[in-house]
Amino acid sequence: MQSAAELIHDLKPGMVSVVGVPTDENSSFLRGAALAPARIRAALYSGEGNLSAENGIDLSTDQRWKDLGDLELGEGGVALKQIEDAIRGLLERGMFVLSLGGDHAITYPIVRAFSQVYESLTVLHLDAHPDLYDEFEHNRYSHACPFARIMEEGLVGRLVQVGIRTMNPHQRAQAERFGVEVITMRHWHPGLDLDLRGPTYLSLDLDVLDPGFAPGTSHHEPGGLSTREVLRLIHALQVPIVGADIVEYNAHRDVVNITAMTAAKFLKEIVGHMLEFNDPREDTVKLPEKAKSVYS
Ligand code: MN
Ligand code: MN
Repeated sequence: MQSAAELIHDLKPGMVSVVGVPTDENSSFLRGAALAPARIRAALYSGEGNLSAENGIDLSTDQRWKDLGDLELGEGGVALKQIEDAIRGLLERGMFVLSLGGDHAITYPIVRAFSQVYESLTVLHLDAHPDLYDEFEHNRYSHACPFARIMEEGLVGRLVQVGIRTMNPHQRAQAERFGVEVITMRHWHPGLDLDLRGPTYLSLDLDVLDPGFAPGTSHHEPGGLSTREVLRLIHALQVPIVGADIVEYNAHRDVVNITAMTAAKFLKEIVGHMLEFNDPREDTVKLPEKAKSVYS
C-alpha cells in the first residue's frame, strides 16, 4: 500500500486521479453522502465484478489512473477551501480528476478550481434537480445551490443540464438569468445531440437515475433515466471529459448495495472514457499551461 505522498509523487500529466470528498454537511434533507466514497470503493474492489470498462480499458492493470483516497476535510467554509485547493493542486500537475462525493455542494469548489486552469469549460450536469437555488434553508452553499454559485461567478462557458424533473418558478428564473441550457426529462429522448464542444466537466448526481435503478440517494424523484441510458450518454460523448464528479450516493437508503455498484460502474466508464479520449501524446486535449510549466 503506497502512502498519499508516494502516490502523488507517481502522478504524471495526463493521468486520471480519483479523489474521495467525504462531506454531507451541506445536505438539506438527509445525511449519509459522506460515507459514499468508502462504500463506492468497497463495491468497486469487492470482486463482485471486474475492473474493465466497456471500451476495453482494464482499470486493474492500466497504470494511467490512481485512486488517491479521501481528502481530510474540516468544517464549513474551511472544507470548501480545502476541496478547491486540493483539486487545483492536481490540475496544476496536469491531472484529469474524478471526484467521488459527498453531496452536490462539492461541485462548486471543484469547478472553482477547474475555472482557474480551464478558460471556457462546458459543464454537463446530470440530475433530477437543477440545484440553482440562490439559497436553500439559509445556506448559500447548500447542495441545492452549487450551480447558482458557479454561474454567478462566471466560472464556466456553458452549463447544460439533463434529466431535470423538479424545475420550480424560482429555479426557472435562475436558469433564464444565467443562460443555463436545460433539457428536462419531459423533453429528453435517447440519442439527443447535446452539441458539446471542447473540454467538458461531467457532474453526475445519481438521482438523475430513476429511483428504481438507484434507491441509494437522498431525494427520490421518480421518472428518471435508466442506468443504460446514462451509460449510453457517457459513451456517446465525443469531447474530452477533463473532470467529473459522482455525487449524492446515500448508503442509508441503498438496497443490496445496488446504487453503490452503479456508482462504481459509472466510475469505471468515466475513467475509461478519460483514458481513451484524453491521451496527451496524441494532443487530444490541451493540458493547462500551469501543468506544462510544472513539468517543463
Ligand atoms: Mn444535485
Ligand atoms: Mn439531485
